[in-house]
Amino acid sequence: MTATPPLPRLTPESDFYWTGGAAGELRILRCRDCRHYAHPPTPLCRSCGSDDLAPEAVSGRGTVWTFTISYQQLLPSLATPYVVGIVELDEQSDLHVTTRLVDVDPDDVAVGMPVEVRFERHDEVYLPLFAPVAQ
Ligand SMILES: [Zn+2]
Repeated sequence: MTATPPLPRLTPESDFYWTGGAAGELRILRCRDCRHYAHPPTPLCRSCGSDDLAPEAVSGRGTVWTFTISYQQLLPSLATPYVVGIVELDEQSDLHVTTRLVDVDPDDVAVGMPVEVRFERHDEVYLPLFAPVAQ
């Protein structure tokens, strides 16, 4: 049985990120003028200032940029230890998503480790989590 972790509140500004997993897609906001990705979602492109941004599917691959292992049971629904990581997506060097790293022994997580997205479904929300790329 999977307990329910804290879930995001879906808003028009970010629901594409939390529901893209229904189509098996990790979706990130992208500027239609300069093609720069923007995450977390923002109304204006941080690169060129355009307001013409739209979600686009990305590869779902990246590398661990940094991480922290939580040993403290702060939430009854998350078994400890668990790993909170920041993943740099392959598409852009400053494109970071905060996530949980799963299907890996916390002691084996390393900065620079290649990871790929997988989705954990909770009704209409598909949490984008990351696991090591299969060797
Ligand atoms: Zn732009």
